[in-house]
Amino acid sequence: MKTFGCQMNENDSERIVTLLRRQGMTPALSEDVADVVVFNTCTIRENADNRFFGQVNKLRERRAVDSQMRIVVAGCLAQGEQEAIFDRAPHVDIVVGTHALGSIVELLDRSAGEQHVIDVSNTSEALDPLADLSAEPTDGHKAWVTIQTGCDNNCAFCIVPQVRGGEVSRPFQAVVDEVRNLASQGVSEVTLLGQNVNSYGRDLTRRLRAEQTGPTDRGYLTGQVYVSGSIARIRPLFADLLRAVGAVDGIRRVRFTSPHPKDMREETFRAMAESPAVCESLHFPLQSGSDRILAAMHRGYRGARFFEKLLEAREIVPDLAVTTDIIVGFPGETDDDFEATLELVARCEFDSAFTFIYSPRPGTEAGGWRDRFIAPEVIAERFERLKHVTERSAFAKHRERVGRIEEILIDGPSKRDASVASGRTRQNKLVHLAGVDGERERGSYVQARIVDASAHFLHGEVLRVRA
Ligand code: SF4
Repeated sequence: MKTFGCQMNENDSERIVTLLRRQGMTPALSEDVADVVVFNTCTIRENADNRFFGQVNKLRERRAVDSQMRIVVAGCLAQGEQEAIFDRAPHVDIVVGTHALGSIVELLDRSAGEQHVIDVSNTSEALDPLADLSAEPTDGHKAWVTIQTGCDNNCAFCIVPQVRGGEVSRPFQAVVDEVRNLASQGVSEVTLLGQNVNSYGRDLTRRLRAEQTGPTDRGYLTGQVYVSGSIARIRPLFADLLRAVGAVDGIRRVRFTSPHPKDMREETFRAMAESPAVCESLHFPLQSGSDRILAAMHRGYRGARFFEKLLEAREIVPDLAVTTDIIVGFPGETDDDFEATLELVARCEFDSAFTFIYSPRPGTEAGGWRDRFIAPEVIAERFERLKHVTERSAFAKHRERVGRIEEILIDGPSKRDASVASGRTRQNKLVHLAGVDGERERGSYVQARIVDASAHFLHGEVLRVRA
């Protein structure tokens, strides 16, 4: 199983692995010895496509001599490119789109008698194709839980709505049941996944209204209340879901990604503040600080409104860490637009920022604005200036943690130094713990004093290990 892209893809891959295991297959150590190689692809940026084609073409020779082998291309690039995948890589056997992942086994069977098998059906009303398939958590103590697929927004730079369709929320109780099932397997931290989590459930209440379903239909049970109250009121159920998931026995930490600032509501901040398990970390994608560019992106908010929401979040949720996404070089971005971004990013004092160079995607609105593309050298210079601002506030935020006692969930040995353990605080900050056996303490909660800070991680000393 080779996965490219976001956590949604990671979670889809985990569930595809569960599906194939149920067919009696076992994960192979590498694609060089596997009978079935599945690429779960991403198409959010150009280099994701290129990396995928680079890797799948390495299997051309082996596939030519091994008639039992099967190469499956799944995910967003498969949904976007469809048959064109076979043109660029004719040794691929199966192409399966984001809405048909559940049919992988049937497609494998069909490939015994058919060349170039494809299923990119996009029945956007279809519930999540792997809905009833909860993944076996890769990390044992942590798990992704998909709560919604697709997106109803149409950001001008984004391909997601085209390849994942409109928003489809999983039934409320199904999500809570999956979390309960994961907790029974020893998982103590869950991350709720969706393209636009804070609009979770809006489609459910819309569908309820359309179907006029009776008030006791389990699919629409939200915590203790059925969403049948005032049917007229279409509303997201994210705050209800956060509270319900946070109340599951054994779950000590709840995280979520990705919310959309325009749909962020006070009730969600209240649920974060009042549910002890919901962590004090919020990913809040700004994308640009220029109102002109935000409008061109169809983001649906202005810089001032974003900043207001940020202040509201920090006021309601104590000790909240906020991270963000910023795109540099969006078509038409002027020096003034970029200065507005620098100014707002500095004022927001983010705990960290994922900064991206604009990547034109075929099929997106902005991808067609070639006459407004920014010169690469201008983008590179802006990117460096932005990184300077984001790292300065990240480092300042990290320095504020020095001397504090933090609860750390140990994830294992540090990737840099196996003699050091690494884990994360409730604010989702990376901490390295010297002298701790990361392998043995994987999944343990420890109390540690933060003794040093860098822009990207903290150093801690363990005071005590708590089960
Ligand atoms: S909110 Fe915008 S950026 Fe996010 S997935 Fe939807 S269209 Fe893409």
